Amino acid sequence: MAGVSVRSLFSLTGIDKSDVRVLLGYALGKTHAQLVADAEYCLSESEAERISNYLIRRTHGEPVSYVTGRRDFYSLTFRVTPSVLIPRPETELLVELALEYLSDHAQLLDMGTGSGVIAICVAHAKEDVAVTATDISPEALRVARKNAMYHQVANRIVFRSGEWFSALAKGIRYDMIVSNPPYIASDDPHLQQGDLRFEPACALTDKKDGLSAFCALVDGAPACLKEGGWLLMEHGYDQADFVCARLRARGFVSVRNWRDLAGIPRVSGGRWGNEDLCCFAGSTIGK
Ligand code: GLN
Repeated sequence: MAGVSVRSLFSLTGIDKSDVRVLLGYALGKTHAQLVADAEYCLSESEAERISNYLIRRTHGEPVSYVTGRRDFYSLTFRVTPSVLIPRPETELLVELALEYLSDHAQLLDMGTGSGVIAICVAHAKEDVAVTATDISPEALRVARKNAMYHQVANRIVFRSGEWFSALAKGIRYDMIVSNPPYIASDDPHLQQGDLRFEPACALTDKKDGLSAFCALVDGAPACLKEGGWLLMEHGYDQADFVCARLRARGFVSVRNWRDLAGIPRVSGGRWGNEDLCCFAGSTIGK
């Protein structure tokens, strides 16, 4: 492919154009604007070898983010490896809600942090927040720590390894718990399709009906929340009713869901404590 121009690569068929753009930018170390401005640029031998390797990997189904090792989320760039879920734009809603409802000098717990995107975006945007982030996978925590260091928030995030609440030190209570848990049912055919085939199974599915992580989070959260503290969870398009019912049954108040940009109920949550106290304890948004 040496000598081939950027323009001719842009007109390749059989591969998504935006994928070619990202991979080409990565192979040549150029932004999209630079690629467009210099579309007649002809690739050197080593550049051609790099891009053809990337294109082959992509054609075999590997997600673009695993080829480049990075992914943008909430206007920050994150390192991603096949040990972590590729952050999705829908999850930005959880970050926005956390920033909206967290009080000053709050303590936040992010459960199942993966690449660390939620914990890091909140810590980056709100300098007075102290964050604890957990994951069952030590490899994922390594990626999350690197991301925290890269974004210079590692001094405000404590990383802990373990399954849900067993990862935590006893007796600490948080102002908010957020989680984007594995919520795909094990028999969902999507697990066998597209990018999902390459992502860590434990980040995608509970290997059951897709609801067990919500049960663990809702049941365990009260022992770790302060009075009036929020539990906010991302979920699938058809899981809001289940999650809200579980929250109410456990005694949470101000229970509701929030829709993503596509209009799909994407996050559900509630506050721990007495309804009246919650009104006085801070925000009453959501009532
Ligand atoms: N919190 C991370 C994210 O939202 C990882 C979630 C997961 O592994 N299920 O991308």
